[in-house]
Amino acid sequence: MLSFDPEKIALPEGHYINGQHRRGEGEGFAVKRPSDGLLAGELADADAAQVDEAVAIADRAVRESGWASAPPRQRGAVLRRWADLIANDLPLAQLEALGSTRPIHDVVNHEIPFTAEAIRFYAECADKYSGDLLPTRHASLGMLIPEPYGVIAAITPWNFPLSMASWKCGPALAAGNAVVLKPSELTPYSSVRLAELAVQAGLPAGVLNIVQGSGAVTGSALVAHPLVRKISFTGSTQTGARIMSEAAWHGMKPVTLELGGKSPQLVFDDAGDVQEIALRILRGFTANGGQACVAGTRLIVQRGIASALIERLTALCQGFTPGVTWNENSRYAPMIDGRQAAKVEQIVTEARRLGGEILVGGQRFADTGEGCFWQPTLIANVSPDSPAVQEEIFGPVLTVQLFDEEEEGLALAGHATYGLCAGVHTKNLDRAMRAMRGIAAGTVWINRYGRSGDFIIPTGGFQGSGIGKDLGRQAFEACQRYKSVLIDF
Ligand code: NAD
Repeated sequence: MLSFDPEKIALPEGHYINGQHRRGEGEGFAVKRPSDGLLAGELADADAAQVDEAVAIADRAVRESGWASAPPRQRGAVLRRWADLIANDLPLAQLEALGSTRPIHDVVNHEIPFTAEAIRFYAECADKYSGDLLPTRHASLGMLIPEPYGVIAAITPWNFPLSMASWKCGPALAAGNAVVLKPSELTPYSSVRLAELAVQAGLPAGVLNIVQGSGAVTGSALVAHPLVRKISFTGSTQTGARIMSEAAWHGMKPVTLELGGKSPQLVFDDAGDVQEIALRILRGFTANGGQACVAGTRLIVQRGIASALIERLTALCQGFTPGVTWNENSRYAPMIDGRQAAKVEQIVTEARRLGGEILVGGQRFADTGEGCFWQPTLIANVSPDSPAVQEEIFGPVLTVQLFDEEEEGLALAGHATYGLCAGVHTKNLDRAMRAMRGIAAGTVWINRYGRSGDFIIPTGGFQGSGIGKDLGRQAFEACQRYKSVLIDF
């Protein structure tokens, strides 16, 4: 029985600093439940002084507790215990479902197992990758020695609060850093429980701290803090650009930036079973109500298969029912808030005005109160330069563009700003490889769409979709800086 009463859930007070719950000392802000729009609770920003305290504590804790210098295997053991606690913690699942767009069924079956698995992956990395011995020409010995940075700031978005936190904290902690994590102010609660579980697992208090608040106050104080040595951010391209520039001005800090996307789904006539492809495309743009950076939101389909595929997709789009995220039967995610729903509405209205044809959806579900559930929407007859095709909508909206020749399809698949992911669907291996090479994207999925918890494969965008990688050993290596050492005997 997964359903629960949201009124009976105890919400964390605010911040989690040095292993203790703390109230915010800055401006207050309201936190709403996305699925019914009602007030969940009220928190207060961590102001610059409180951010300073959290960072100073992290800096001290990581050195004095011995976390930075502990044998990597020992760090791995703590992370493994943390993963086990995460995997079995019902309050963590309930906080995530109450405060985010993820229905409890998805949280328990995907978000929680994926979060635990990401932490386990980095527990394994902790002692697997070391530095290097280098043959030198003039010294007796050359070495490349990895060191933790010290304090890493992690700043995360609202769309997958727990897994985003695990992708940042896992590699940073495994490599011997402390982390100060600022979750999105729209989804603050589950990260606090995550940090409590880390301390229960044996992470020294103060090595993982959570500060809550707006990007303008809490986020920018973190980015600017002199003891923060690296920033790992996931969020919009616009905020990423600001953070990169601030990070440069405040100490030339390295950044990992996972940003927005507008990913194409390129389907060729020889892609195979239409029902199976339709399901792939459907999941690609409706998962989490389309509020996923990797959402495949531009269907670019070859003319021979187009009408059969569009017919199947249109039918499948009508199979969704909205429901509050704390009901175990709910499967479909609400928009995070009214502002996000209004943004989707504005782009769909504009697409209509420009001659776009709404094949299905095109509006909110009726009778969902203040919860904003948007119907899966297909829009045909859109010009390549219209906002519906160019802008990241962050809602369940798929534009449909047709092509005849391979080159034409590839040209449509490119995007001037983004390059996060792409789906290529064809049974012709030569064509798949040509398409893979021809599309500028950090990840290309061929005859599938989505990563399904495979953490050995890194993820990260090209162009405006970001810099660096989350996941994989690459993210672990990026949480270290490398010291070159030359020795003469
Ligand atoms: P956002 O950029 O508005 O906010 C992300 C985080 O940054 C929040 O915690 C916010 O408080 C903080 N922030 C805002 N301004 C800041 C500032 N000046 N300094 C420091 N921190 C600041 O993004 P969002 O609306 O929360 O999330 C949606 C976006 O995230 C979409 O564009 C989506 O594509 C992207 N995203 C990308 C990935 C990826 O892996 N590439 C994954 C998930 C989401």
